[in-house]
Amino acid sequence: FFIAVEGGDGAGKSTQVEALASWIRSKGHEVVVTREPGATAVGKRLRSILLDVSSGGISHRTEALLYAADRAEHIDTVVRPALARGAVVISDRYIDSAVAYQGAGRDLAPTEIARINRWATDGLVAHLTVLLDVSPETARERFTEAPDRLESEPPEFHQRVRAGFLTLAAADPARYLVVDAGQDPAAVTTVIRHRLDEVLPL
Ligand code: C5P
Repeated sequence: FFIAVEGGDGAGKSTQVEALASWIRSKGHEVVVTREPGATAVGKRLRSILLDVSSGGISHRTEALLYAADRAEHIDTVVRPALARGAVVISDRYIDSAVAYQGAGRDLAPTEIARINRWATDGLVAHLTVLLDVSPETARERFTEAPDRLESEPPEFHQRVRAGFLTLAAADPARYLVVDAGQDPAAVTTVIRHRLDEVLPL
């Protein structure tokens, strides 16, 4: 079972990924927690290139292809093998991040970004995508320790990214759970657990 956790910077993805992983593990299942970009050896190198140049030193198409390359390696070497042995995989970001950031956020067509990523992943779709939705203003308040990640792009960029995520969720409601991530993290976890209780083969 493959769960993708998506959302903008500061939405609380890593907190929720950890909370869900311990909960699912406590039920006796193997859980693989992973992330994009940077879960593999090649991915770590791609991540350092991508984050190094996130201030604008790379063509947008190159950026989109490097994210897709990271994802191809991640799916082939980490996610598919884990799913094949019956593990629950929870990924901090998946294709939706590319469609939202490189598509809606930049000037590339979201449908084209989705297309290259379908190819990169050989069509692997998450069984459930949890979208942690929060306004960029609220998210920014959570970044007092490391403001640079959010400050590299203007607020309009983050608004477009948020809208990009919501558009994807609206197009396929059965496969998405959109959670108001502005609320208390424990409340967010409870909402996600309820949905997982319905869909996880536990
Ligand atoms: O989620 P994480 O903090 O690891 O992401 C690292 C950075 O890469 C973030 O600032 C995020 O906005 C950016 N990113 C991106 N496009 C993606 C995925 C992440 O611009 N497809």
